[in-house]
Amino acid sequence: MKILVVNCGSSSIKYQLFDMTDESVLAKGLVERIGLAGSVLTHQPHDKDKVKLEADIKNHSIGIKMVMEALTDAQHGVIKSMEEIAAIGHRVVHAGEKFADSVLITPAVMDALKECIELAPLHNPPNIMGIEACSEIMPGVPQVGVFDTAFHQTMPKHAFLYGLPFEAYEKYGVRRYGFHGTSHKYVSQRAAELMGEHMTNLRIITCHLGNGASIAAIKNGKSIDTSMGFTPLEGLVMGTRSGEIDPAIIPFLMKKEGLSPDQIDTYLNKKSGVLGISGVSSDFRDIEDAAGQGNERAQLALDIFAYKVKKYIGGYVAVMGGVDAIVFTAGLGENAPGMRDKICNGLEYLGTRIDPVKNNIRGKAQEISVDGAKVKIFVIPTNEELVIARDTEQICKGIVS
Ligand code: AMP
Repeated sequence: MKILVVNCGSSSIKYQLFDMTDESVLAKGLVERIGLAGSVLTHQPHDKDKVKLEADIKNHSIGIKMVMEALTDAQHGVIKSMEEIAAIGHRVVHAGEKFADSVLITPAVMDALKECIELAPLHNPPNIMGIEACSEIMPGVPQVGVFDTAFHQTMPKHAFLYGLPFEAYEKYGVRRYGFHGTSHKYVSQRAAELMGEHMTNLRIITCHLGNGASIAAIKNGKSIDTSMGFTPLEGLVMGTRSGEIDPAIIPFLMKKEGLSPDQIDTYLNKKSGVLGISGVSSDFRDIEDAAGQGNERAQLALDIFAYKVKKYIGGYVAVMGGVDAIVFTAGLGENAPGMRDKICNGLEYLGTRIDPVKNNIRGKAQEISVDGAKVKIFVIPTNEELVIARDTEQICKGIVS
């Protein structure tokens, strides 16, 4: 079965075509600058050179059409016709409390996703546009929604409710939802496989550390808590996001700086985090370089980041009554041995220690704790697209030939 995985942003479409017989990627690519000047499709077939196709890509529908043309093109295509695509899996950011698992897209599901727009006004509309564009171009091909929030729907009320009047939850759905669920699910399952154990016997802390960063406590295969909240702004200090702060700071800064609600939103989402602290960059590579050259604020940004991660790990050990494995994933988690070491330094009381030689890896699934450690530490590259393809295959195998 060949499955197309699609991830639509407001001006972009990322895609991968999987052959599920061996879970190989036949082609992948990216449409950028949709609706803007200089829109372009970059298409990478698995066995040929990358191609860049410039065109006036006005909307997602034209973008998806171009993706189809690239996939079936005589020169750089990987399939003969669109009919070879059995199903399409979409990354959808927010499903609120409506879905605790991936679902086949139906008109009722579309209505439910539209109801979630107010919870994710930046993310859900392009996700929905992507589904609509695929229905238009490939009518009749089953589509599946895979949600960032779904994996965390197992959180108990005491973990997902805030200390606000209960009506805020009842009237407006104000609660912790959590994000990066597909990634937390994938890397926790891979960790269990690497340990030769079943998920139901394990307590795992997964650290998804990228430009956006979140941590999850996964007990017996279920997410019981996670650091992102009502939106992906809560929790850790991130590339440009503040993470948790005293909520009273918001009206204080709005008054002092004369900021509107939209401006404070931008302040917290785009100007804060390690960018705001360091004044250097949101990219950890730049910050590490600057810190290496003696920039004190860059060093402070790294110290604050590592400290917050460590605090969450400690908190999640407490709520799970212990931990069997800690997993690092995403851009920073997979590629920054120094940061992993900094985070784990001092966790020896848990019965774990990083092995400096094993830790010297990037982008490879490997245990990095010392031999015989009671608590295993892993680096596991995330693969959200593969989870989307697997869920899509699982849901569609009964309805496609
Ligand atoms: P992501 O959002 O998962 O793509 O991760 C992006 C983040 O990973 C950026 O802040 C990068 O600085 C960081 N990153 C990627 N590669 C490295 C590396 N080799 N060393 C340190 N940080 C890295």
